[in-house]
Amino acid sequence: CLARDELSVFLESGIYRFVDSRFIFVDPVRVLNRLYSRFRVSPAGYYSRFFECERKGLENKDCLLYGKKRKRKEKKLRCLNEKECAADRRHQVAKPLLLKAYESLLQATDLLSVTRSLNRESGCSEGRKLFDLPSDHQSLIEHGRVWQAPLYEITLKLPEHDQSSEVGGSSFKDRVVPLFNNLVVNETSDEVEAEFLDHQYILPRESCFYMSDLRLVHNLIPAEASSGFSLILIDPPWENGSAQQKSKYPTLPNRHFLALPIKKLSHGKGALVALWVTNREKFHRFIDLELFPAWGVIHISTYYWLKVKADGSLISDLDLFHHRPYECLLLGYCYGEDVKDVKLLEQTLPKDRVIISIPGDYSRKPPIAELLQEYVPGPKPGRCIELFAREMNPGWLSWGNEPLHFQESQYFIRT
Ligand code: SAM
Repeated sequence: CLARDELSVFLESGIYRFVDSRFIFVDPVRVLNRLYSRFRVSPAGYYSRFFECERKGLENKDCLLYGKKRKRKEKKLRCLNEKECAADRRHQVAKPLLLKAYESLLQATDLLSVTRSLNRESGCSEGRKLFDLPSDHQSLIEHGRVWQAPLYEITLKLPEHDQSSEVGGSSFKDRVVPLFNNLVVNETSDEVEAEFLDHQYILPRESCFYMSDLRLVHNLIPAEASSGFSLILIDPPWENGSAQQKSKYPTLPNRHFLALPIKKLSHGKGALVALWVTNREKFHRFIDLELFPAWGVIHISTYYWLKVKADGSLISDLDLFHHRPYECLLLGYCYGEDVKDVKLLEQTLPKDRVIISIPGDYSRKPPIAELLQEYVPGPKPGRCIELFAREMNPGWLSWGNEPLHFQESQYFIRT
């Protein structure tokens, strides 16, 4: 009976809490759908990479799934070098927790029966091509780089309540504003449609974005610490040799992230800082020894994002050295004027958690904002910012060189 209750909460919220409260399953599509009233997130769009692989029968080949070839290669590995040994030690610490979380998932047969049907819901099994961008699609990143970038404008279609209309219908008024290096705001309590060069975008209610290169990130620093951000989510474009990543977005050497003005962006009462990182030991060391100290962040807890397929199996072997089926979210605090306040929150922040989900598009992270809200210092609701964002959220400022990427209308279905 309890399990059934948890399932009905999941069907409504997209969040399934296992009996062990450290483990949570998230269905990003259900979570995101709660943010919209006139649109739904298209499951085929969200899970396109994943289901496309399954449809083509590419399991154990490209895509998310790493194959026998790689396993054979890994078996041939000679002794691990010093960094690899450290990475392996880190993995051995996380492994028991990840295995326990995975066991909980396998026992949740009610939940798995829902995830298995995701494939059918998306129309994937019909064998048609799920989702594709037009071939002439020029990315927002490319538009932002050209000399014309300061001239580009986006048109927001803002609702205008028509008093004269008997049925109380609404019409729209265009607001045209610069697209790049400008704070673009949807202050209304409804989603707003926007247009840029024949592409349509959906801006969630009460959300805003600032699309620029890292060099202009200082423009986000608030004039007063009291209007700073109390939740700062960061997903840097870490360098990675993968050709797939290279074709998706540009990456940056580690030293560039030292320039992020985290302390100056923080609220005067402190900020919860959440940083996504892959499993490369080089990045973990850099964060511990240089990045968090430079930002003034004290690392408190690590959440693991465990990636599974719709049938509940892991996307790759847990012990596969170079392609673990999980990534880390490091959580820490930037102290504000009242250290005691933040110290109290630190004690309540779970020390380790596992968030399980089916991955979406390349490097797209599951929506975990609401899981963090209760640990945010200062006044409620906290002011939230996502750095290197590719999508928008109600109540958040999204910054990066393509924060509108997943807001494009093709990722949505009009209800
Ligand atoms: N969190 C995102 C998601 O869930 O979809 C993924 C972010 S991805 C790891 C990193 C982002 O940083 C990419 O959108 C990339 O284009 C952007 N980026 C790379 N170089 C940048 C720069 N110099 N200035 C601003 N953004 C940059």
